[in-house]
Amino acid sequence: MSVEEFDVVVAGGGPGGSTVAALVAMQGHRVLLLEKEVFPRYQIGESLLPATVHGVCRMLGVADELAAAGFPIKRGGTFRWGARPEPWTFHFGLSAKMAGATSFAYQVERARFDEILLNNAKRKGVEVREGCAVAAVLEEGDRVTGLRYTDPDGVEREVSARFVIDASGNKSRLYHSVGGTRNYSEFFRSLALFGYFEGGKRLPAPTSGNILSVAFKSGWFWYIPLSDTLTSVGAVVRREDAEKIQGDQEKALTALIAECPLISEYLADATRVTTGEYGELRVRKDYSYQQTTFWRPGMVLVGDAACFVDPVFSSGVHLATYSALLAARSINSVLAGDLDEKTALNEFEARYRREYGVFYEFLVSFYQMNVNEDSYFWQAKKVTNNTSTEIESFVELIGGVSSGETALTAADRITERSAEFAAAVDQIAGGEDSMVPMFKSQVVQQAMQEAGQVQVRALLGADAEPEVPLFPGGLVTSPDGMKWLPYHPA
Ligand code: FAD
Repeated sequence: MSVEEFDVVVAGGGPGGSTVAALVAMQGHRVLLLEKEVFPRYQIGESLLPATVHGVCRMLGVADELAAAGFPIKRGGTFRWGARPEPWTFHFGLSAKMAGATSFAYQVERARFDEILLNNAKRKGVEVREGCAVAAVLEEGDRVTGLRYTDPDGVEREVSARFVIDASGNKSRLYHSVGGTRNYSEFFRSLALFGYFEGGKRLPAPTSGNILSVAFKSGWFWYIPLSDTLTSVGAVVRREDAEKIQGDQEKALTALIAECPLISEYLADATRVTTGEYGELRVRKDYSYQQTTFWRPGMVLVGDAACFVDPVFSSGVHLATYSALLAARSINSVLAGDLDEKTALNEFEARYRREYGVFYEFLVSFYQMNVNEDSYFWQAKKVTNNTSTEIESFVELIGGVSSGETALTAADRITERSAEFAAAVDQIAGGEDSMVPMFKSQVVQQAMQEAGQVQVRALLGADAEPEVPLFPGGLVTSPDGMKWLPYHPA
């Protein structure tokens, strides 16, 4: 069997895979991307964050195409969440780092969004092969040296590359080859049941494109407008309720909607879509985990292959595209002969874990706002009692990178920050006109820090302020954002 050679081979053509592939190909390297499905294909994860749209997508050169695609504009989130019974709204526009023309994201039909990114990767020089399922990595000694896959005719093939990227998402088993273990979070141990509706109510303008998230007794709902009439609706419930959902999903979703007055009101005149790609009810579980190692010589994990926190607050596509950007910088630096693999990929892993860590803590804080709800779902989300050990060990795995503080244990820190965050939300929900308290709260500041950086760099390029390393002894981003540089203080 003849073995083709590339600089980089990527498994998976979701947002993580097409982003890393394009950013490496844009530096003139030979990149092959193997995707199991033929696009367009269905995927969940429809609510984006501004850093993806105005940061990574701008670097990829697809910002204008996305703007022309007509996706609903998401200016923020509207939440029935926490102590107050009235919904409150969070606007991206009031973060100093994301103010102005870039203070929005999109709600996207993933089949269309992912296809735009994959076609863009082709235009940027990536060789994309759809209908090609990757079966295993090839190894020589310690090093991963390529992939084995089955082509659309059923023929088994091998490719070799200096770097293999696993961007094959949540369900693929390829990540095993990187070593370490996939640790599942006990705290976020929930499952989601979701489907699509035509004719659901909309929030009033200018927030009509917002995601609506509603906490209720058994968990919480997302309600995402995907067009003027189509809405993605999902319930996140306790793992212990799995059986009820697996029994009769239609009945289960109807019963959960009936439990939640706000979602019932929004869906009062709506009908569930029962045909086409949106016709089935779907369940996802065991989605909250992190791999103990994100790379080994010759192999890198990006996106859901490495980790995912929780659907609340739309961090999945952000983490996938941000990790893809970090991986691309590391690989571009090594292929250019600027850095050794270990230095470059340690920077990738440290930054990726930090971002995962800040979102993990932020989302725990978010859940904390509902601990006074008298129900199993929310009591189990109480950091201060039974789950504190789990939080402790999970945050330890993140490597303490999410915070430089050593005086506080993770659970203490989260409790303290949750209280600060809840107080800020209370001010907004109480009619405070400004988002300032919320953006000043530490969990939000941390969660926005890197996202803001990525956006600013994509907008200003070489005119952006010079960076300092995120970690002592770490690297900084090159002016064009495509590589790492050693740090030399002025
Ligand atoms: P994917 O999008 O999963 O892409 C992986 C690709 O790899 C797929 O195209 C797949 O076909 C391909 N593949 C798989 N196996 C192979 C193989 N063996 N060979 C070749 N190709 C292969 N995120 C958000 O940002 N906003 C949200 O609102 C949101 N809601 C969510 C709700 C739920 C219930 C869940 C579980 C997740 C949600 N997410 C959300 C997360 C989001 O779905 C993921 O984080 C995101 O899709 C990850 O992108 P990715 O590129 O890593 O993987």
